[in-house]
Amino acid sequence: MSLSTQNPEHAAKREPYPLKDGDVVRRGDLFFDGTEYHTMDNAGKVLGVICFGKPIKKPGAWFRPLVSNIDLHCHTTASDGTFSPEEFILEAKRLGVTTVAITDHDTLDGIQEAVDAGEKAGVRVIPGVELSAEFSGGRVHVLGYHIDYTDPTLVGTLAEMANERKERIPKVVKALQGIGFKITEEDVAKHVGNAGSPGRPHVASALVEKGYYPSIKAAMDGGVLSDGQPGDIPRKKLSPIECVQLIANAGGIPVLAHPYQTKLDDAALDKFVGELSEWGLAGIETYYSEHTPEMTAKYQKLAAAWHLIETGGSDWHGTVKPGIELGRGRGGLDVPIACVTALDKIKADSSQLHCNSLAGVSCSCPKEQVRDSPKSY
Ligand SMILES: [Zn+2]
Ligand SMILES: [Zn+2]
Repeated sequence: MSLSTQNPEHAAKREPYPLKDGDVVRRGDLFFDGTEYHTMDNAGKVLGVICFGKPIKKPGAWFRPLVSNIDLHCHTTASDGTFSPEEFILEAKRLGVTTVAITDHDTLDGIQEAVDAGEKAGVRVIPGVELSAEFSGGRVHVLGYHIDYTDPTLVGTLAEMANERKERIPKVVKALQGIGFKITEEDVAKHVGNAGSPGRPHVASALVEKGYYPSIKAAMDGGVLSDGQPGDIPRKKLSPIECVQLIANAGGIPVLAHPYQTKLDDAALDKFVGELSEWGLAGIETYYSEHTPEMTAKYQKLAAAWHLIETGGSDWHGTVKPGIELGRGRGGLDVPIACVTALDKIKADSSQLHCNSLAGVSCSCPKEQVRDSPKSY
């Protein structure tokens, strides 16, 4: 499958344009043959007047490079994105993205607005979240799909963590003042903007502005805010297993986000995924803006080895990550519908199990059959 389109400038705008010999079309592209529309179910090149066996009946037939119409990793102003949940849905609609998941960092605050806007706009919205965890090897993100975003434990834990984060910044500022940095809470607040909760990056921005460090990275990575330094005030952190359990207990489907960011080597990642899957990890984000085709293939093998499903998304944040477009990532992202189907199937199976369990009836749904195997969800 080709990872680029023949006319990237057209593709970027998603304007329909006339087909000509040699044009590359991709799975998911919308093709108009003069009388009707077809969605391409395969990728390939246009040859003569035949496109995938379908004759182009009129000159001027065109296709619209939808490429991916699914994006299962998106952030809004509820965490650190720049579009409100409603604006996010309107952007999806504008770009022809038909199924999205809202996966803000450690918050459920944007979900209801996105779900309501999705209903109005005809965009399917899967309620989700992206939880941050820390482990001995570093940091990791766990995505949760189809979560019950009113679940009291999940809501309560996230609220507690948000509170701690808020209370933490004054402590960080105090610690810095204690060792001679001339910085105030107001200096930090200026850098928070719409992001909602202040964090270490905002303190780092303030330190850069005051001339203490040349860059945010320098302040956070080796600087006074880095691990073990005076500006590193400990707070409650979730372990990866806790994230998986929190999500699963809220009826959600836990998925390991962008595996390369764990910085684990192949053997360690395999072990890590194996352990998490015993606790209920159900999938791996194999399709991702920063994944090369080789990385995607590698993570697909890993998912298959542990009987996990695959998901994918762009990690869209709006204008703060200008190179990443909703539904397309850096241009080559193409999340297959199979990812959505797999999530739906697990959700349907688990609700069936849930209902039957509540009624005290033992059921024979697939979920029940695989429940004994620790490697399955
Ligand atoms: Zn992430
Ligand atoms: Zn993300």
